[in-house]
Amino acid sequence: MVNGPKGLLEIMAKLKILEFPDPRLRKKAAPVEVVDDALRVLIGDMFETMYDAPGIGLAATQVDVHKRLLVADVSSDKSEPFALINPQIIEKDGVTVTDEGCLSVPGYYESVERAEHIRVRFLDRKGEAVEMDAAGLLAVCIQHEIDHLDGRLFVDYLSEAKRQRIRKKLEKERRNAAVAL
Ligand code: ZN
Repeated sequence: MVNGPKGLLEIMAKLKILEFPDPRLRKKAAPVEVVDDALRVLIGDMFETMYDAPGIGLAATQVDVHKRLLVADVSSDKSEPFALINPQIIEKDGVTVTDEGCLSVPGYYESVERAEHIRVRFLDRKGEAVEMDAAGLLAVCIQHEIDHLDGRLFVDYLSEAKRQRIRKKLEKERRNAAVAL
């Protein structure tokens, strides 16, 4: 997820982020079986990729790893990093509407309605089970990233016509970029 159109620093991302309408973004991620060093390296790479983009959340699906894992940090100074392994929303309430963006749908921001508060259960980097309450932007971000793990994108909440418009524009931009020398 991206918070607003104002970027911070543009530096090289470590992992390649898939972009809509890439069919790999539609794969449903499988649960993580073991929390090991390889997974922790992936988590570190995902944080680096997310901060570099810059974004406030990134799901493993977006870097073509189809495991139930997401990273998020909604702070303005990289001070609140969360890595959620096998996240599950166990409670939700309230309604909030946010202008959402997505690193996989670059340049587009649209209003999406989601729960305002959530309680989420997950494994942390040590493999320990944790439950956490989240509200506001963090709650929205976690819901957005869990959608990615289920193969769902924020543009799926928009009308078909709007989604096709975004798809065509992105495809055109990519074609133009491909021939730019
Ligand atoms: Zn996203």
